[in-house]
Amino acid sequence: MTLPENTLESARQWDAKDPLHAFREQFLIPKVNQEPIIYFTGNSLGLQPADAGKAIERELEDWARFGVEGHFHARHPWYSYHERLAPGAASLLGARLEEVVLMNQLTSNLHFLLVSFYRPKGKRVKILTEHRPFPSDSYALASQIAFHGLDPNACLVEMQPREGEHTLRTDDILAKIQELGEELALVLFGGVNFYTGQAFGMEAITAKAHEAGALAGFDLAHAAGNIPVQLHDWNVDFACWCTYKYLNSGPGSVGGAFVHGRHLKEDLPRLAGWWGHDKATRFKMDKAFSPMQTAEGWQVSNAPVLNMVVHTVALAQFVQAGMERLRAKSLQLTAYAEAIIGDINNKHLAGLQIITPRDPEQRGCQLSIVAPAKGKTIYNRLTERAVSVDWREPEASAPLGAGVIRMAPVPMYNSFEDVFRFGEILKECLGVK
Ligand SMILES: *Cc1c(COP(=O)(O)O)cnc(C)c1O
Repeated sequence: MTLPENTLESARQWDAKDPLHAFREQFLIPKVNQEPIIYFTGNSLGLQPADAGKAIERELEDWARFGVEGHFHARHPWYSYHERLAPGAASLLGARLEEVVLMNQLTSNLHFLLVSFYRPKGKRVKILTEHRPFPSDSYALASQIAFHGLDPNACLVEMQPREGEHTLRTDDILAKIQELGEELALVLFGGVNFYTGQAFGMEAITAKAHEAGALAGFDLAHAAGNIPVQLHDWNVDFACWCTYKYLNSGPGSVGGAFVHGRHLKEDLPRLAGWWGHDKATRFKMDKAFSPMQTAEGWQVSNAPVLNMVVHTVALAQFVQAGMERLRAKSLQLTAYAEAIIGDINNKHLAGLQIITPRDPEQRGCQLSIVAPAKGKTIYNRLTERAVSVDWREPEASAPLGAGVIRMAPVPMYNSFEDVFRFGEILKECLGVK
């Protein structure tokens, strides 16, 4: 892959020919001393689309003007508001329109989907999950297991990396699925691990889970808007995601859920609510629940329109930019950051270790950096110099006993110049400049 040189001039030339560079202007970047900061925490909370405020105002106007009638008479009627989001979400994640729904929030959606897709029976009771899953996912899985009267310690299996390694090998994951065999009820992995930034082979994992007679679901919190995903073709059974990380839809914004078409007509157990009822007869308020024959059948409550408004704005940007172009730029931006960090290591023996896989196919835009002994200090110095990255404390079993600095140059609004400047500031923080 050709990359910019490690000079300001070269980085600026690359920005000038970047077809996505104009998107940066459509975001509000926090400033320090009038200057936009280097924002590499879009993996935690994406930046605000500049049009978000106006879009919310329009909705507030409709509320003022119509009151309850806005459900049917607002410019975008609230009754069907979530339907506006399905086409964008479906194209982003490789799903059919009827397979996706925007509703609730991430962990809530995981619970609702587990009710339908984790149904332990006889020997088949175990859930296999990734090493160091996001804590909310562990809590959800363990509590679902306990809810079935089973022991989470025995039923929740966390995949461990090999001695001295940080990430998981696909072959090892597949072997583990095979080993668990008929004890395995479900494989529930992140699409991209929040800590290491490792992207998992969702298609291979799904196929292997099915071969073992189990189901496969994915938490796409760090995958949606970050890496290309083809949920339908990969045969994934179900998935959920949030929209406030790479999808720039605002703090606590609406979550998403995917249910593969082959499950839509099955009579699955679920926790029901009125918004999942057939929309043609919903307002008849019948006693008998008759679910929509789409992913919308998993809805329980009426839609949180005000935060969905921001998601419509943000999704439109993704549709316009196109996941293919975003991914192409992302591969370059992240490889550029990796090369610059490598340069600093070579020239100054900085000892920075990137634990994210080197193989671009096994990562999104995030790099997780370990700086043994002085990671926290470097993180603090970066923050003082208006670089937004984040710090994760080490876990007891971490091979280097060190925490990580996570940085995510996102292709939607970060520039090659951001990455170049990051390298220069990093040298200052290391005291080698
Ligand atoms: C960010 C994140 C969450 C957060 O859950 P919410 O329900 O949105 O608060 C959960 N799981 C993963 C994997 C995450 O990355």
